[in-house]
Amino acid sequence: MTQRTFLIAGNWKLNKGAADSCELAGLVAKAASGATKVEVVVSPPFTALAAVAQSLEEAHSGVQVAAQNLYPKDSGAFTGEISAPMIVASGAKWVILGHSERRQYFAESDAFIREKVTAAIQGGLRPIACVGETLEEREAGKTLDVVFRQLDAVSDLFKANPGYGVIAYEPVWAIGTGKVATPEQAQEVHAAIRARLVEKAGADVAEKTQILYGGSVKGSNANELLRSKDIDGALVGGASLLPDDFAQIIQAAQALSA
Ligand code: PGA
Repeated sequence: MTQRTFLIAGNWKLNKGAADSCELAGLVAKAASGATKVEVVVSPPFTALAAVAQSLEEAHSGVQVAAQNLYPKDSGAFTGEISAPMIVASGAKWVILGHSERRQYFAESDAFIREKVTAAIQGGLRPIACVGETLEEREAGKTLDVVFRQLDAVSDLFKANPGYGVIAYEPVWAIGTGKVATPEQAQEVHAAIRARLVEKAGADVAEKTQILYGGSVKGSNANELLRSKDIDGALVGGASLLPDDFAQIIQAAQALSA
């Protein structure tokens, strides 16, 4: 039996202001209340972080909050950026880093993402570091080359505190497309990621690190994905904005934990 608990994280992306975020967070808290064996995280935009963290705290829901990004300096002349200490002060405990949309639209490199993961860990935020190949890369047979390159940029940072950092495998071709990876395709990459972690960060880190799958996860496909041995949860975009669907994903994880 694995000692890893399921982690279900909702990535709300550029959706929902503070009021709408609090409303949705309340519904997630309700859905999570019976799921005592599952870790649940929601990730609203920066402007809603503090309000959502406070409302979830007041409700004693156990649902935690993640930021969607950070800038790897604590303070200074970096107009428009947000630091790890600011995120911590908002009440969030997590941060999603290296999402493919950041890599693609904001030209974030592996080296820059490494800086961000370093800043997160030093600042006391648990990183969810995302990796994943594009369709072109998969069709060229380069899936593991790409995933390992992205993983190797951060994996040694996970050594000091095994299980603190999380990896999300998100094939870019499955994000927001409705084209979900098959459980076999996902499991194959997850197993390869865990084996690579053994090599680069040690067996203890590899055993304790939760590896999430992301890419068109919804209530109807959560069970078959989460059943796979090396899939320890989900990073959910579109379906995390739909309370019933997200609740179904949480329930699928809870049922498999029982
Ligand atoms: P999706 O997004 O669930 O809408 O495919 C996943 C993600 O981008 O984290």
